[in-house]
Amino acid sequence: MFSLRAWNIGKISGIPLRIDASWIAIFLLLVYQLGFFVFPPALGSRARGGVIWEALALAVVASLLLFASVVAHELAHAFMARWRGVPVLGITLFIFGGVAQIADEPDSPATEFLIAIVGPLISFTLGVLMGALWIWLQALDGLGLFYQMSLQRAALYLAVLAFYLAQTNLLLALFNLLPGFPLDGGRVLRAGVWALLKDQRRATYWGMQSGRLVALLLATGGAYLLWRGEYGGIWSFLMAWFLWRAANEAYESFLARELLTQVTVGELMRATLPRISEGLNLRELATAFAYWLKSPALVIDLKGVIVGMIALEQLRQIPRVEWETRRVRQAMQPFAPESSIPASASALRALQLLAQDEREHLAVTQEGNITGVIGRVELAQYLQSKGA
Ligand SMILES: [Zn+2]
Repeated sequence: MFSLRAWNIGKISGIPLRIDASWIAIFLLLVYQLGFFVFPPALGSRARGGVIWEALALAVVASLLLFASVVAHELAHAFMARWRGVPVLGITLFIFGGVAQIADEPDSPATEFLIAIVGPLISFTLGVLMGALWIWLQALDGLGLFYQMSLQRAALYLAVLAFYLAQTNLLLALFNLLPGFPLDGGRVLRAGVWALLKDQRRATYWGMQSGRLVALLLATGGAYLLWRGEYGGIWSFLMAWFLWRAANEAYESFLARELLTQVTVGELMRATLPRISEGLNLRELATAFAYWLKSPALVIDLKGVIVGMIALEQLRQIPRVEWETRRVRQAMQPFAPESSIPASASALRALQLLAQDEREHLAVTQEGNITGVIGRVELAQYLQSKGA
């Protein structure tokens, strides 16, 4: 989903962490702003027409620590989701912070509430701790304990960092608590309405409206700032636009999920698939794909038993120069329980499995035999036919 412009940078206790390309831009902007404008006066350094290296170095450290703060916030969501039995796909950091992607809607208002609230709670705690550190350093300084020059400098660096992180973490907590779905505060709101009305769809509808309202308020605030000549207003506009879109998308995706629970995999699967022998080479396969209008194919061995599946995406992973020498057998997706789904399962389950493993297709089985294939295309076609 995000693979086009997001990089995997590792895993934290099994949860993949990704960085979106837009995040790099915001990181550089942050280092620039802190290193050239915010930290130099805080460090008492006067620019003599050049770069103040200690401010710039501190800006890099501060930006990385802010990054860690955002990760901590998202990890809190992710761990709580996992603890409440909702699978977590991963965490992606992007221009406005981060997002913990969970594979499913929460099963109850309580789950929704807990997952939503822990993020701001962690940010708030970090903010308070950093604020306390800053106050403590001020107190020690007031007592004249930093009598050495180098010690005084180190304490100043630490105080500047603590102050900045206290500010940003508290802001992060506050911003996320705005009652506009799908922000954390909006999720808390949806959980409340859901508990009250006992109707998740209507709660999500009101959630969307809350998101739109907060977006409108942010845009109004942005317009006011711009009118006063403050260019920071552009950020409010951007956030408003982002929130408006996210609120609409969250509701649409909820409706889509609801539609997908009403139909089985067997009803949507592609049942008649071309078959191809595992011994063919990939050049021959490419020709066959062109002939079959890019449909995925079932791979059979010499005895005619289905042993796997191959689609365009597997072919694309192999460089063209190797197509003559490689066989279908080496490129196919072998049949395994994790890449198949029973025909009686709900279409939503198929979507979850596809998202979880970032696959394009799953094999559909009926009493142990492969009877078809289901992929994103089939799900999308169904949703389109329903006008979703
Ligand atoms: Zn959050």
